[in-house]
Order: sequence, then C-alpha cells, then structure tokens
Amino acid sequence: MCNLCEKETVYLTKFCEKCRKVKHYLNLYDDRVYEILDSVLSRDPEKQNNKVRMEINKEIENMRAKQIKRGSEHN
Ligand SMILES: [Zn+2]
Repeated sequence: MCNLCEKETVYLTKFCEKCRKVKHYLNLYDDRVYEILDSVLSRDPEKQNNKVRMEINKEIENMRAKQIKRGSEHN
C-alpha cells in the first residue's frame, strides 16, 4: 500500500506513481507546495481555477526573473 494516498498498491516502493510525483514537487519546492495547496484547495471550486492560473503565472514570473538575473550575472 502506498504510504501517502493509502489507496494504490505498491510492491517495491513506498509511494505510488502519482504520489512519487508529489514527493518530487516537495523535494523541489519544499513549503511552497503546502502554501499552494492551502491557498488553492481552500477556495470554492470555481475560484480554484483562477487561483491556479495566478499561481502558475507567479511561478513563471519568478522563473523568468531568475533567468534574467542569471543572464545579467554572466554579462
Ligand atoms: Zn499513492
């Protein structure tokens, strides 16, 4: 049984494929994952899509800002 969802059957690993993806995001983004889940899932279903879109845009902006920063360091 998967340690996280406790639904999927797993044999050699602790987590099923879906939960391994979640674990991967946790490794990459740490607390940011919990913040996003909290802010998105605590909303009404119709507001969730807007929030998801906003969060994605925020992440893209952050990534762009980092890339620009990295680029200017090389110049
Ligand atoms: Zn699972």
